[in-house]
Amino acid sequence: MTKSVASGSELPASQSPCPVHGDSCPFADEVVKLRQEVQALNTMVRVDELTGLYNYRHFLQSMDLEMERSRRSGHPVSLILLDIDHFKSFNDHWGHEVGNIALAHVARIISNSLRRLDIPCRYGGEEFAIVLPDTSLHAAIKLAERLRVRLVGSPLQVEDQSVVVTASFGVDCLGSLEQIDAGAFVARVDTWLYQAKDAGRNCVRHAPDREETHVSKDERDLLLGDL
Ligand code: GH3
Ligand code: MG
Ligand code: MG
Repeated sequence: MTKSVASGSELPASQSPCPVHGDSCPFADEVVKLRQEVQALNTMVRVDELTGLYNYRHFLQSMDLEMERSRRSGHPVSLILLDIDHFKSFNDHWGHEVGNIALAHVARIISNSLRRLDIPCRYGGEEFAIVLPDTSLHAAIKLAERLRVRLVGSPLQVEDQSVVVTASFGVDCLGSLEQIDAGAFVARVDTWLYQAKDAGRNCVRHAPDREETHVSKDERDLLLGDL
């Protein structure tokens, strides 16, 4: 199983929540236990159990947040969608359990290849989404290509055989002046993913690599006098 992207151990168990009774408070243990349970539940609702990556719910929240942040700061946000190639045939050949191991394998390669602020998610089934805050299209394309090459170069060991799992990638970047919602941005990246499938799979397809000038909302408001 992939190392989890979210940890439920942010609160030290030894820390007493009671400022009056300190360690001798009769309710302290209960409060600490409840806090830990809340943290564990908080992780469970955000993380996909099989892969340890963030789940679809967290993906949607992150997209809204990062797109808003991008509009405000003027920094770009990029998105990579990747879909494992011919995964139905893989399952048919090796069985569903080995399929699950392959999903965790791909997730591990993804999470080991990212920066700390990048947001790797299981989008659904054999599809993954990587939200890349403050990342240009050019940098996102390079990352997608690096991931593709790493996948090809990291075959899965199944019953004494090395099985190469490949994926197709779609990449696009949201300019800070673009007024589209997360759904429209995902749909746009999806068209590049479909192009990668159409082009024969195991490849990256992306929006034209354009020179972008990023202008923050604050700068825009100042320029347009819309404060
Ligand atoms: P393409 O190259 O066009 O993407 O073909 P594909 O076979 O990968 O795509 P398709 O949509 O036909 O099949 C996806 C497969 O992924 C079918 C489904 O059983 C499998 N799958 C989805 N979720 C899971 C899962 O959690 N575990 C396993 N083992 N398989 C899964
Ligand atoms: Mg698919
Ligand atoms: Mg697929």
